[in-house]
Amino acid sequence: MNPVTIIGGGLAGLALGGALARNGVPVTLHEAGRYPRHRVCGEFLAGLDEATLDTLGIRPALAGARLHTSTIWIRGGRTLLEAVLPSPARGLSRHRIDRRLAEALTDAGGRLVDGSRIPTSNTPAPGTVLACGRRAGRPGWIGLKVHLRGLRTRSDLELHLSRAGYVGLAGVEDGRSNLCGLFRTERLPSGGRLQALLATLRASGFPELAERVAASDPDPDSFCSVSNLDFTPPAPDATALRIGDALGVIPPFTGNGMTIALQSAATALPHLLDYARGGADWPATLQRANAALSRRFGRRFRVAARLQPLLLSPSGLGALALLARARLLPFHLLYKLTH
Ligand SMILES: Cc1cc2nc3c(=O)[nH]c(=O)nc-3n(C[C@H](O)[C@H](O)[C@H](O)COP(=O)(O)OP(=O)(O)OC[C@H]3O[C@@H](n4cnc5c(N)ncnc54)[C@H](O)[C@@H]3O)c2cc1C
Repeated sequence: MNPVTIIGGGLAGLALGGALARNGVPVTLHEAGRYPRHRVCGEFLAGLDEATLDTLGIRPALAGARLHTSTIWIRGGRTLLEAVLPSPARGLSRHRIDRRLAEALTDAGGRLVDGSRIPTSNTPAPGTVLACGRRAGRPGWIGLKVHLRGLRTRSDLELHLSRAGYVGLAGVEDGRSNLCGLFRTERLPSGGRLQALLATLRASGFPELAERVAASDPDPDSFCSVSNLDFTPPAPDATALRIGDALGVIPPFTGNGMTIALQSAATALPHLLDYARGGADWPATLQRANAALSRRFGRRFRVAARLQPLLLSPSGLGALALLARARLLPFHLLYKLTH
């Protein structure tokens, strides 16, 4: 069998690696970090289909996830929208999912090399999959996340919007809520982590959320941040096989990035199995897998990238509020186009 090398051990790389290993493919995954670890993520998995779970064999990694069925959108203390989700979403921390997927990969005979950062600038060697997460963008957006204990939420997913960003609050395991936000700023305010989070919430138009965070019991170990986020739809790259955020980053309001990570692994899997078994050479594998990925995700990336600026602009939010009050907001259609 031809071996496969995966660079990056987030959801996409780990799920693909585990599935390849279970199919008898010699697979090595290089991960720059170590497990378990928290990651900036809303930890709200929306739109994940049963076929992907079966293809990748990852149901055990999601065991114990909270099931979420409702959402509320809030701006300046006012409710914009309350809706039942078209299909239930899952709430589970990346700390738990990534650790379980890493264990499943090694249990299936895959080789996991953590603490190993592999250069990705050159054209990857045949049999290499890039699952190394988002490409660095320009300064402009930062993401922050923290787990809170003892916080009551008004719906399964609270989405708070302002012109300076948005913040999601959703339940994960062990009675915790995950707060994760995207903020239009270039750097974190100085001070400790919690102080920086509170200052960012207040400066971004979420003073009420800052009070709720301050009154809850945040887990300091879960705090993490990322900067230089970029939501430009991906440019095609015929020279490499990319999955997950390495393929493209969907704006987080969709709660669909993790699902794309898993679905892109499932989409690439049959082409990589064919390659490993000698049924196709690497150029043909690249061409077929990239065509399948582009067919499956192209529209989702484009629609979500156009919607995000609307959510952040005062006029877009005003129109949204009007449509929601008149019960004319096509929530289910927008959900379908972005999932
Ligand atoms: C603020 C914010 C909120 C979000 N909220 C949600 C949400 O609620 N729901 C949702 O579904 N999605 C959400 N997402 C998106 C989701 O987190 C990502 O889509 C998902 O993590 C992508 O998984 P991945 O495996 O592709 O990449 P990652 O999880 O980023 O994993 C990539 C891995 O590659 C490793 N790596 C990078 N470079 C190298 C290298 N050179 N060598 C070796 N290893 C390397 C990294 O250490 C990392 O572990 C959110 C994102 C942000 C920023």
